[in-house]
Amino acid sequence: MTGRVTGRCHCGEVQVSVISAPAEVTECHCSICRRYAPLWAYYQTGDVQLSGPTDIYRWGRQHIDFHRCHQCGCVMAWMPRGDYPECGINARMLDGFDLRAITLIVEEDSSV
Ligand SMILES: [Zn+2]
Repeated sequence: MTGRVTGRCHCGEVQVSVISAPAEVTECHCSICRRYAPLWAYYQTGDVQLSGPTDIYRWGRQHIDFHRCHQCGCVMAWMPRGDYPECGINARMLDGFDLRAITLIVEEDSSV
């Protein structure tokens, strides 16, 4: 699959657009991700667009913002707060996303 891919939350108020479909996604097991259960696709921040009203959750070192739809609560992305060049998009929100068609990386990290 080539070209930009779009996606949205359940209610549709928050939209996301990424430069290309992910080839792999990461299932993270840190203390927040094991609760949210997103599948992260990592991109350069300049290669994604996130629009619509989100609420933000920040914890620990406060270095990233987790964005969720203010209405339906879907977790859409995490974005860096400093100069970190990457962000994570929840691939579950992307149109046509099929986990069975790509590589799943399971990240074991229960320490944070
Ligand atoms: Zn929503």
